[in-house]
Amino acid sequence: MQGKIAIEEHFAIPETNGVENRVASPYWASLNAKLLDFENQRLEEMDRGGVGLAIISLNAPAVQGIADPARAIEIARRANDTLAEQVSRRPTRFAGFAALPLQDPDAAAREFQRCVRDLGFKGALVNGFSSTPDPQKGLYYDAPMCRPFWAEVEKLGVPFYLHPRDPLPSERYAGIPWLVGSAWSFAEETALHALRLLTGGLFDEHPKLKLILGHFGERIPYDIWRIDHRLKFRPDCPAKKKLSEYFRENVWLTTSGHFSTQTLLDAMLQVGSDRILFSVDYPYEETQPGTTWFDACEISEADRVKIGRTNAERLFNVRAD
Ligand code: ZN
Repeated sequence: MQGKIAIEEHFAIPETNGVENRVASPYWASLNAKLLDFENQRLEEMDRGGVGLAIISLNAPAVQGIADPARAIEIARRANDTLAEQVSRRPTRFAGFAALPLQDPDAAAREFQRCVRDLGFKGALVNGFSSTPDPQKGLYYDAPMCRPFWAEVEKLGVPFYLHPRDPLPSERYAGIPWLVGSAWSFAEETALHALRLLTGGLFDEHPKLKLILGHFGERIPYDIWRIDHRLKFRPDCPAKKKLSEYFRENVWLTTSGHFSTQTLLDAMLQVGSDRILFSVDYPYEETQPGTTWFDACEISEADRVKIGRTNAERLFNVRAD
């Protein structure tokens, strides 16, 4: 399928590059150059895989991993300006998601306004909780101090992509470092953060919020029935609706880094094909395995066109040729 739109595709600026390298290996070594590149391998892989448009976002944890709010504000601004410059050079191939310094929610709201209104960005991608001066504590966005930020997000009318980062340091992963990161803890951490937002009443106060979760919803869709079922017995849960309802009204999922037809079919059964968006998670994944899988997986052509392109065109008001 030509003209696909991919929406979890990352870049870095020198200040945020290299921090994710976990173990010495050719895979991790190759990422640094790919994250800084816009013109060469990135475009070649898009062309070969039939990706017409990539909505690009900063790598992780980047801005969210900076404990000092002033530095986070500065780096977010620098990254957003760099991305805007690249988008302006190839506006038919690239679009942008804002990086936001949520260490200071008011500053994040102002930066989000600037990115949408002045730079033409299509939403924000935020890498989980924001670091604080206390390494044991992160700022999660269900905190009351973040409510004015969410009011601004709703007003801007563009999606907020909650992207993974490592959880706070914990004894739970002692002795199993390989499960920290994309194999397991990213989804565990991001799912819990998403559930804090979705079950905490935020979407009742701001019913037009649009939340995107990568990696097929960070495992939540598989558990929606059980969460709905068990929350019936929790009158202390502030949400006014069932989790399944928020997933059908406020949440979109992407295929980023998860090229499995079984998981895609389950996600379609859980939330419907209108709420799923193709993505690769470049450069942490190579483009070809994702596009080859998606182009041939056993779904209808109507669903392939929706997931591959038209859902994103509608959600972000973009076009891909
Ligand atoms: Zn990613």
